[in-house]
Amino acid sequence: MKVLLVFAHPEPRSLNGALRDVAVKELESQGYEVRVSDLYADGWKSEVDRADFPSLDPQARLIPVAASKTAFDADTLTEDVKAEIGKLLWADILILQFPLWWFSMPAILKGWVDRVFAYGFAYGVGEHSDRRWGDRYGEGTLAGKRAMLIVTAGGWEEHYTPRGVNGPIDDLLFPINHGILYYPGYDVLPPFVVYKVDRFDASGFETAAEGLRERMRTLATTPPIPYRRQNGGDYLIPGMTLRPGLGDQEMSGFALHVNTEA
Ligand code: FAD
Repeated sequence: MKVLLVFAHPEPRSLNGALRDVAVKELESQGYEVRVSDLYADGWKSEVDRADFPSLDPQARLIPVAASKTAFDADTLTEDVKAEIGKLLWADILILQFPLWWFSMPAILKGWVDRVFAYGFAYGVGEHSDRRWGDRYGEGTLAGKRAMLIVTAGGWEEHYTPRGVNGPIDDLLFPINHGILYYPGYDVLPPFVVYKVDRFDASGFETAAEGLRERMRTLATTPPIPYRRQNGGDYLIPGMTLRPGLGDQEMSGFALHVNTEA
C-alpha cells in the first residue's frame, strides 16, 4: 500500500513536523511505501493565476475553470501540478496534515488543492445532464482510495464539541472532508485531531504520538465516515436535495449528509 502525506507547516522542528515523523515512521514500519509533499520546503506556489496555463493565449481572458479543463485535457498543466496529480494517482491513501489556522487549512494547502484538483481530474468528471450531475461525492477519479486529515489545534477539545463556542470540529472540517476529499471520490476516514497543543509538554506529545501511531496502524481498516453518495438514490435529481423522509426531519446542515443508519 502506498501513502501520500501532504504536509503544510513552515517549520520542520514544529510539533507538526514531529508528528509527521511519527506517522511516516509508523507507516514504514507497517510496510507502507510513503511519499511526502512538503509544501513550504518545496516552495509550493499557492495562487491560481495565468502562469498555471502556459498554453493559454496571452490575450485571452483567463477563465480559471475553462483554462483548467483545457490544460488538463491537453496535458499542458505546469510540471509541479502534474507531479502532484501523479502522486495522487500513485497513492492508495492520501493524508493532509496541517495546523488549524483560522478554523481551516493554511493558505498554502488550500492553494495546493486549488491548483492540483483540476477540472477533468477532481471535478467535472462523468456525465452532466438532467439525469446525472457527474461522478462526485463518493464517485470520481479517486474513488476506491482513502483519505484522512491530521490536524493540530490550539483550542480545547471541549471548544469544538456540539455546544462548544468554536462549533463542532466535524462541521469545521466538513468543507475539507466532504467538499474536497469525498467530492472526487475518496473514502474519508475520521480525522486525527490533537487539541490544546500550544501548551504541550513531553507527556502530551507522547499521548498524541501513540494515538497517531494507532491510527496509522489501522489506516486500511478504519471505517470511513458514512457520507451519503450523490448517485446512490438519496438525492433528488437535478436539485440534489436530500429525499424527503431521509435523515432526521429536525436536522439541517452538514450532518444531514452523513448516513447515521449506515
Ligand atoms: P508548535 O508551535 O511547533 O508546538 C506547539 C507546542 O508543542 C509547543 O509548546 C512545543 O514546545 C510543543 N512541542 C513541539 N514539538 C514537540 C515535541 N517533539 N515534543 C514535545 N512537545 C513538542 N487554533 C485553533 O484552535 N483554532 C484556530 O482557528 C486557530 N487559528 C490559528 C491561526 C494562526 C494564523 C495561527 C498561527 C495559529 C492558530 N491556531 C488556532 C493555533 C494553531 O492551531 C496551533 O498554534 C498549531 O496547531 C500548533 O501546531 P505547531 O506544529 O505550529 O506547534
